[in-house]
Amino acid sequence: MIGVFICKCGGNISGTVDCGKVRDAVKDVEGVKTAQVTEFLCSKPGLQMIRDSIKRNKLDRIVVACCSPHMHENMFRNVVEEEGVNRYQLVHVNLREHCSWIHDKGATEKAINLVRGGVERAKTLEPLQEKTVEVCRDALVIGGGVAGITTALQLAEAGLKVNLVERNPSIGGRMAQLSKTFPTLDCSPCILSPRMAEVENDKNITLYTNSEVESVTGGPGNYHVTVKRRARGVDPDKCLKCGRCSAVCPTSVPHSFEAGLYERKAAYLPFPQAVPSSYAIDFENCKRCGACAEACPVDAIDLNAEDKLVEFNAGAIVVATGFDLISDEKLRTYHPENPGVVNALQVERLIENELTEGKVLSTKSGERVKSIAYVLCAGSRDPHNGVSYCSAVCCPYTVKQAVLLKKSLPYLKIYIYYTDMRMTGRGFEDFYREAREKGIQFIHGRPGEVTPLPDGKLELLVEDLDTGLMLRNKVELVVLSSAMVPSKGTGELASKLGIALGEDLFIASKHVKLNPISTLREGIYAAGVATGCKDIHDSVIDARAASSHVTNFLGEGKLNLSPFKPVMEGECDLCGACVEVCPRNAISLDKNGPVIDVVSCNGCGACTAACMKGGLKIPNYTKESLLAEIKGLLTGTDNDVALLGFFDDNISYTAADNAGTARLHQPTNMRIVRMPSTALLDKKTIFNALAYGADGILISEVEESHEAEMAEKLIEEVKEEVKGMGLEPERIKFQPMVLPIFKMLPKIITDFTNDVKKLGKISPENRQKLTEKAV
Ligand code: FAD
Repeated sequence: MIGVFICKCGGNISGTVDCGKVRDAVKDVEGVKTAQVTEFLCSKPGLQMIRDSIKRNKLDRIVVACCSPHMHENMFRNVVEEEGVNRYQLVHVNLREHCSWIHDKGATEKAINLVRGGVERAKTLEPLQEKTVEVCRDALVIGGGVAGITTALQLAEAGLKVNLVERNPSIGGRMAQLSKTFPTLDCSPCILSPRMAEVENDKNITLYTNSEVESVTGGPGNYHVTVKRRARGVDPDKCLKCGRCSAVCPTSVPHSFEAGLYERKAAYLPFPQAVPSSYAIDFENCKRCGACAEACPVDAIDLNAEDKLVEFNAGAIVVATGFDLISDEKLRTYHPENPGVVNALQVERLIENELTEGKVLSTKSGERVKSIAYVLCAGSRDPHNGVSYCSAVCCPYTVKQAVLLKKSLPYLKIYIYYTDMRMTGRGFEDFYREAREKGIQFIHGRPGEVTPLPDGKLELLVEDLDTGLMLRNKVELVVLSSAMVPSKGTGELASKLGIALGEDLFIASKHVKLNPISTLREGIYAAGVATGCKDIHDSVIDARAASSHVTNFLGEGKLNLSPFKPVMEGECDLCGACVEVCPRNAISLDKNGPVIDVVSCNGCGACTAACMKGGLKIPNYTKESLLAEIKGLLTGTDNDVALLGFFDDNISYTAADNAGTARLHQPTNMRIVRMPSTALLDKKTIFNALAYGADGILISEVEESHEAEMAEKLIEEVKEEVKGMGLEPERIKFQPMVLPIFKMLPKIITDFTNDVKKLGKISPENRQKLTEKAV
């Protein structure tokens, strides 16, 4: 007995979809006991309506037609479960992101199809039970900035063993480079260093510096991690920090901790408060002369040290890889190579190194600085020359630096060129007022360029947007408050972890508002600037949230696994095709057939498509349930071309959701089938879909994934066969997907619809041939 519950979503759905018409179209479909419409299905009265209806109508299958399943599916599952319905006998139909938000005309007809698809799917669903497995209660934290440090300490305090992997020779991240922090002006090293020392001393934390994640296999609750540890060359347990190695080292290179302002030796201490508290050898620049090893009084240096691979298991992972500043290449018009032009991180180091010692401020070429111009939004909010987003912290840190400079050197003239002053945090506005009271001048306008003058000074020309006057200014020092971008290698790390990036190339959150700390992969979370620009306060909030997520997720060391994992029904001829095709090496064979490692298996279903006997199945994603849904989706689509999209649930479906959230309109012809992965598809399913009424098929899968390779191969084979039948192969298309291109998806769908429209509907004779092929 199926109950269908349709949500108006306060006009978000009912604004374009006639929900009453949808209800009337499905209420008499075979198997449907009741169909009801309500204003907000996810509200208490909406949920109560479902509860009452389950009891009154003895429902055992539920279809909810509302927002994206990525929003509330779990909540609806919990509710029906409490009323005695198996949580996996619920179908969540997306009427909002995939319909009402992207269509006007024709939205109701499409909504009817989508709900029909849901109803037909519901009929095929079996009750499923989750499996409980033991999980590893250790965690991996990647990145040792303030976000990673805070996460690691919180987890360690909760009793978990933590592996903290930091790419640099010391933890600390960007915060360690800062002088003081806005708006309270507390000394950055003073608040961070004790936390860094705690990490070093915490017996629950194993710290891997000079290290990066090489690979991650396994699955949620039991990830298997390989870390590459680059040789440090100095044994931190022996190092006395006497500095003799550095003193004799003949090689000097720019000091990255000092933002390149000063030089350091190839044998060097990363910075005074470094953790581990030890020197390191920079093997990229070391000439291996041996002078340091000779000078070391405790034999701590080994110039033959080699990189090592370390392996461990982790139940959950937190990514806290932070940011870099946008490259100078993007800021050419500001002449970053000029000795009078610096970035704001360099000013942090200047304040720390020069002003605290009472020196006057000079440019890199030694000229005394009497006037400074800050250029805010250098590379931010500038999609053509930099990044389109706001870097969020530049306004407050610029005011901070200006106040600090003015306090130390009151004679300085400081001009801040701004696009909009964004001082939204607690106490920030007072701080901004203080800056103006100190005589710091704020000029409303962003100079497009900086011109070096023959006298060594730098000129800025800008239109003051408040007065309309053109202002020309000459200063000795220009500070670029440069855009923050994801740390180098964030993309590569994300693909190793199987998580997605957002449009801005920072790590994508599962849901920006409701689940900002979770990534799109279970058991993997992200904190701090890794998910977008933010200050220390917000990074620490993220970190504490991430540690709670991890402790909740790993619980008492047991985890409920998704039941969508392959099971063998019927006989197996031990052909081994499933073993070969599994991208996660999660299948082995014994004498009775396949043995599935349910932890490593991610339920992609590749094995089910490969099984010639048809015995391997993903429960509730069987061919029968897919075909039933397809039939429902295609009901009554005879008047126009009908397109089916097979979208992987993780990335492609989320991309379609994002396009919906951005209200990017597209033709109503496309109906998207959500599936764990498109590796589940086989030729027969595609022929059947075409036989049932689809005129075009779009398969979308995660770019460069194993599943994408399989989908492309399948499509090539299908195209060949379709061509042999006299049908146009252009009716079948593959779209590799990464989240950042979600805005292109509506155009891709529109173009595909137009192409198929040109080909027209498939003739009844060809449908007949397809039916024969699909048997
Ligand atoms: P990060 O500090 O960037 O730390 C990330 C860490 O991850 C680094 O140690 C990095 O080496 C490591 N890492 C990166 N990739 C990998 C990888 N693949 N594997 C292993 N390790 C990796 N905020 C304030 O609240 N107050 C201020 O006054 C202030 N001033 C600022 C001034 C400037 C000039 C700038 C640019 C920023 C300022 N901020 C300020 C912002 C502050 O720096 C950030 O909020 C904070 O550093 C974010 O911490 P995080 O841990 O997320 O990232």
